[in-house]
Amino acid sequence: MNRSLLVLLSLLGTAGAFAADAPETRPPLRTAPARFDSSHAYDVMSYSLDLAVTMANDSLWGRQRISAMARAAGLDTVALNCADLAVDSVLQDGAARGFRIANDTLYAGIAPAGAGGHFALDIHYRLGNRGTARRGYYWYPQGGEALKPVAYTVSAPQDARCWMPCFDEPWDKADSGCAFSVTVPDGYAVAANGLLTDTVCAGGRTTWTWREDRAIATYLMAFHVSQYAHWSDTARTAAGDTVPLEYYVWPVDSAASRTVFATVPGMMDAFTGLFGPYPFAKYGMAAVAPFMFGGMENQGMTTIHRGWVTGNDQYGIAHELSHMWWGDLVTCGTWADIWLNEGFASYCEALYYERLTGNAPGQYMASAFSQALSGNALTYPIYDPPMALIYDYSMEYAKGAWVTQMLRGVLGDPLFFPMMRAYRDSFAQGTAVTADFQRIAEHHYGAALGWFFDQWVHRAGHPAYGAVVYHRTHPDSLSAILRLTQTSTTGEPYTMPIVVACSTAAGLRRTTVWDSLPFQQWTVTDTLPIQRLLIDPDNLVLKVLTSQVPQLKRVVKGFHQLTPVWARFTADPAGVAGYNVYRSFSTSGPFLRVNAAVIDDTMYADTGLTAGVMHYYAITAVCGADTCCETAFSNITGQKPLGVAGDPGSPGAPLGASLQRNSPNPFRQATTFAFDVPVEGPVRLALYNVAGQRVRTLVDGTLPAGRHTARWDGRDDRGRRAAAGVYCCRLAAGGAAPSLLVQLVR
Ligand SMILES: [Zn+2]
Repeated sequence: MNRSLLVLLSLLGTAGAFAADAPETRPPLRTAPARFDSSHAYDVMSYSLDLAVTMANDSLWGRQRISAMARAAGLDTVALNCADLAVDSVLQDGAARGFRIANDTLYAGIAPAGAGGHFALDIHYRLGNRGTARRGYYWYPQGGEALKPVAYTVSAPQDARCWMPCFDEPWDKADSGCAFSVTVPDGYAVAANGLLTDTVCAGGRTTWTWREDRAIATYLMAFHVSQYAHWSDTARTAAGDTVPLEYYVWPVDSAASRTVFATVPGMMDAFTGLFGPYPFAKYGMAAVAPFMFGGMENQGMTTIHRGWVTGNDQYGIAHELSHMWWGDLVTCGTWADIWLNEGFASYCEALYYERLTGNAPGQYMASAFSQALSGNALTYPIYDPPMALIYDYSMEYAKGAWVTQMLRGVLGDPLFFPMMRAYRDSFAQGTAVTADFQRIAEHHYGAALGWFFDQWVHRAGHPAYGAVVYHRTHPDSLSAILRLTQTSTTGEPYTMPIVVACSTAAGLRRTTVWDSLPFQQWTVTDTLPIQRLLIDPDNLVLKVLTSQVPQLKRVVKGFHQLTPVWARFTADPAGVAGYNVYRSFSTSGPFLRVNAAVIDDTMYADTGLTAGVMHYYAITAVCGADTCCETAFSNITGQKPLGVAGDPGSPGAPLGASLQRNSPNPFRQATTFAFDVPVEGPVRLALYNVAGQRVRTLVDGTLPAGRHTARWDGRDDRGRRAAAGVYCCRLAAGGAAPSLLVQLVR
């Protein structure tokens, strides 16, 4: 079945009544999830239906012949699912048998059968009073979306019982297949599972007989009736197989469908190349509308919404075709295992994308299956979801696809695809449960995979990684330190191989690290300078990944200085040694480091300014373990300085006089000021109290250009100890007057 309902809704632009039929909002299902059931003491061999519909109203009647084999001696009652059906008679070998219906179950007496004995029951029935809750069989008169009168069945997951008595669990497939003989008014065509073996016209009515010889589950049985145009095609695969293709569409869509379905032979070739020969006698599609789903993978005859033809939904078509291997040939043993159907088929969309584009499927995964990070996937494991959620998109489709891709990533292609073919061979025509698939995967992997299935299949949610990368020198280095922190939506850690790629002049070189702890680190080296370290560049892992760099909050414009201010970098639990500040006159660089020693603070006053131009800053965090290593740049923030000494207001002007922060500050005995003088000339450096009175002159004379220092011993010009408090130190040189505040403590 297909997710493309959502695509369709947007495509049709009608989210109203149609959305009310969405699988998520359907009425509660009738029974609790079924499991292997020891009381089911027979094995269905085939279903054979003789049905008649008038197409004038919502009626269906006929006969179901069930052939079965007793699995235990003395079987004298057969229980069948039977919902909203009126049963007229039950016969065995032409003789009427007693029956009763209770709790949507038909109990039919049979002549006691010995173990292994075969028996057949003919059940004559009609649709009963279905009220307004129509399920299983849908008939629409012409009008609205129905361009022609149309009738069809939707059996998945548990509605086959609403249009035919049957044993309606996926794990007892009808080993010998099924047959439909459907009598309709002339002018109507019938499309169903298997091959069309006969059409007989009599008295204005035509009986169409279709026969499916391969094992089939009841939820995959279907027929469609409308005034269809029919056309055929043939898929010839690289392996030499020939597959007949049969399409049933409304005449108005015939030309468009030839364009839209023209890709099916290529899809067939793609999937046969990956998974082996197409497993059924033919493939077909029958288009209907209205339809509650986008597509439904009925065996050998997919039902699609007509909107897939008018909207050309190639990936929906690929999804349903891939179900012929994953769902129809190998059927989920129970509804708890639905991800084996929908996860695989959804991932096959990505495989088809890979085939079409030649690209790894990461981009398709990100765009089509991002819902795996939200919704019910955060609450329920993909294994054994609540029955009402077995077709939940975020869980079974999106996360199911991711889990399939991640298993491919763990095994690698040389093991993964042979594993899938072995799984197919082991369960072809039958059913498999999750434990079966795990066992096959472990056999090919050569090691236990419980850790993988436990965290991804049996647990809700996903991991979240925070990545800090340190390079030895910025930007080029032969090595980098990767530190990963891991949290998860459930609080339990995930174990995953994560591909890390060094981006160098020679391209990407991939290596794999195994992450399993709340905090881990690796040193990655290359023979060429590493320009960037990319984490999971192919998007193989379902995750939230945050690449952590320091955040520059702002650049404070001060008189003759610019002060970048940043947040303390806490993303690395191992701690950082400090920060480096880089400056450029352009956002695109080059950025040059302005601090000498690593800064153990969250701000830095830069006084080496140039007049009249924007100064752009970025910072890095310095690794605590190796101060030669730093992160990539923070965000970049720019500011233009104020009042540079001798500023003619144009770029390239000489540097103004500048005053460095004194050290220590506050001080008790003495503090030292450093200041830069751009050109030789008169300089005064003095301390003023808060009243603006000069307290002490440290320098008053002509100084050469360059850096100078001056010491203040906390005394005034008369040699007396100055009072404790705040003083302003002001430099006057060449028209500039930078100042700073100094605190004297006593
Ligand atoms: Zn599907």
